[in-house]
Amino acid sequence: MADERGLQAARPFRFACQRCGHCCSGGSGYVWVDESEIEPMARSLGMSQDNFTARYLKRALDPRRGVEAWSLRERADAGGACALLVGRNTCLVYEARPRHCREFPYWEHVLAGGEGFEAARETCPGIAVVVPPEKAAPAFAALQQAVESLCARHALSSKSDECCLSSELADERWCSGLEADRAVAAGLASAGCKLGAARPLACVLARVDDAQVHEAARHTVRALERAHEWPASYGPLRAQLRSRGVDVPLPSAKGTAS
Ligand code: SF4
Ligand code: SF4
Repeated sequence: MADERGLQAARPFRFACQRCGHCCSGGSGYVWVDESEIEPMARSLGMSQDNFTARYLKRALDPRRGVEAWSLRERADAGGACALLVGRNTCLVYEARPRHCREFPYWEHVLAGGEGFEAARETCPGIAVVVPPEKAAPAFAALQQAVESLCARHALSSKSDECCLSSELADERWCSGLEADRAVAAGLASAGCKLGAARPLACVLARVDDAQVHEAARHTVRALERAHEWPASYGPLRAQLRSRGVDVPLPSAKGTAS
């Protein structure tokens, strides 16, 4: 069952991790480790507790409690990434990672809204803010108008008989949060392009081989997001939909949904 804790937050949001690794590599900060979590992490790496502690942990003042506590070390040579992160998004102790990591983004100060929430949202593309309907309707209408005028200018159709969600193309085509929210609000069609007239501009412009047109379209959407105070986000189409509770898996090799 989908985790709905974010929907109860001061700024309601949906969350679906996109495995980007930003939260483990996004600069300096503290990841608190409880004493009881050290041994399982050390064991998962086949290390003694002492060696693990010396290599991966440090003591720091925990401002929440006013006492010193264990925190994960960061790599100064990798912009403050967690010392347990390998490559872009592989956690060396994933199954045994601390509760602090497991609970992200449902941290108290994130759920409380304000700066804590904004910082998390800027780091994490898996957080999709839920916008109230009275704000959404005019923003969707403005986006619709922008798409129609772009189509008229370039002799394009906003609709298609093909659906990039049926292939890896959806992972190559990126869209803004506003476009994804509009597509989700419109609902999925059962035939042809699942997003119908609400498909994002990257799909509408797929056959336009002019980078300037694509760039101008992105600027238009960004300007609309700013004008309607829409929470900005930008990511692969399938992942954007998934973070909004709409999972469209690739068809399996046999042609059935996996
Ligand atoms: S930043 Fe968000 S989406 Fe990316 S790995 Fe971390 S939790 Fe997942
Ligand atoms: S322990 Fe793993 S999940 Fe936690 S910050 Fe480090 S790399 Fe990320």
